[in-house]
Amino acid sequence: MSFQMTESLETIYQEIIRKNPGETEFHQAVREVLESLGPVLVKYPEFLQNKIIRRICEPERQIIFRVPWVDDRGEVHINRGFRVEFNSALGPYKGGLRFHPSVYLGIIKFLGFEQIFKNALTGLPIGGGKGGSDFDPKGKSDAEVMRFCQSFMTELYRHIGEHTDVPAGDIGVGGREIGYLFGQYKRITNRYEMGVLTGKGMAYGGSLVRTEATGYGAVFFVDEMLKVNKQSFEGKTCTVSGSGNVAIYTIEKIHQLGGKVVAISDSDGVIVHEKGIHLQTVQQLKEIERRRIKDYADIHKDAKYIPKGNIWEIPCQVAMPSATQNEINGKDAEKLVKNGCIAVGEGANMPTTPEGVRVFQTAKIAYGPGKATNAGGVATSALEMQQNASRDSWTFEYTEKRLAKIMSNIHQVCYETAEEFGAPGDYVVGANIAGFVKVAKAMLAMGLI
Ligand code: NDP
Repeated sequence: MSFQMTESLETIYQEIIRKNPGETEFHQAVREVLESLGPVLVKYPEFLQNKIIRRICEPERQIIFRVPWVDDRGEVHINRGFRVEFNSALGPYKGGLRFHPSVYLGIIKFLGFEQIFKNALTGLPIGGGKGGSDFDPKGKSDAEVMRFCQSFMTELYRHIGEHTDVPAGDIGVGGREIGYLFGQYKRITNRYEMGVLTGKGMAYGGSLVRTEATGYGAVFFVDEMLKVNKQSFEGKTCTVSGSGNVAIYTIEKIHQLGGKVVAISDSDGVIVHEKGIHLQTVQQLKEIERRRIKDYADIHKDAKYIPKGNIWEIPCQVAMPSATQNEINGKDAEKLVKNGCIAVGEGANMPTTPEGVRVFQTAKIAYGPGKATNAGGVATSALEMQQNASRDSWTFEYTEKRLAKIMSNIHQVCYETAEEFGAPGDYVVGANIAGFVKVAKAMLAMGLI
């Protein structure tokens, strides 16, 4: 359920569309938050008087830059780099970098906007930001990726810092890219500033559990939603879209909790393995050999590869979209509900279209929006910053416990906020309101910023 937008909220929304033409993903993310805020403005009229919503929707700073690099054949390429520093009311800007050919300002702004509220929900001192490039790492050699990352950082370094802006990974940016980026930052600045990037390797200031954190955290959140209905992952059939960082560790945790993942995907197709996805095969193919999931079916003869297939047509009880934005539309959502799905947890950012969200909410299935469900990644990044600041390094067990506690707190705050504002069970309303109010109060306290 979302609330009817009041006239003042509708006016603000129209103004945002006018000022940010063509940025459809950003419009979608803003609308989804504004639709939750009606009752908040009744409770806190000072937010409207002080134009807090308009201020939050306008990034504090947007940086767009040229990234020239040379491929292995000597050909010159020019990509575009972005860093949107959205909001620093709660701490330094924090959010990942995405390298994907579809990247443009509207995608970075939607991700940065969501990040503000997600980071607030973690309860940790981090503001919101996001960045990336339209560079496509697929099919590039390590040397090409390194040259690109070095060129990207040669501009980005002047805008970031452990107390200013702390990037991390996202689609197309994993441990390899973070290593190259950190190396170039260190070289240019002549500073070993560990807290400037998160998702680092264990040899140079990384945190255990960071690699697993988004996937594990998403499963912990869904587990909390299931518990409310006296259910658990035990014996549940699940589907997980994507086959990257978030998908892999979502599968691992689901299997640890007794569920069975029967399908995964990439942008070319779907693998269905009724016996249960063999995680080590996926890790070998994706993390080590950087191959496509199509090859999974050559290794496991009882698995089926569906080229251009739609993973949401595969029956499941729990669906965890972990690939990209708008991957579940209204029809997909209807299919999922019809096939008996009882819970959806978004590992990806904004993977469900507004029509899809309406279908889930009308069917009253447990639906965890990305800004709450996938907050474990950034939360563990903040734990990495804590370890860096104290020159310490925690055990896997301790860090995972911290993550589990953070996810259970986020679930509780979303659940209780939804009840308080008259929308019980609505995690969208709960997450948007809880995140927004925290940031808005901090902004008010700091005067006109
Ligand atoms: P990866 O690059 O590791 O993996 C992305 C996966 O999604 C790949 O399997 C990829 O397939 C698929 N995918 C990407 N874009 C598309 C597309 N346009 N259509 C179909 N499939 C696509 O990224 P992550 O696992 O890190 O990120 C996945 C999602 O999780 C994103 O929405 C990201 O914003 C979100 N997220 C990530 C966090 C993190 O810590 N990494 C934290 C919070 C959210 P292919 O190889 O074919 O492109």
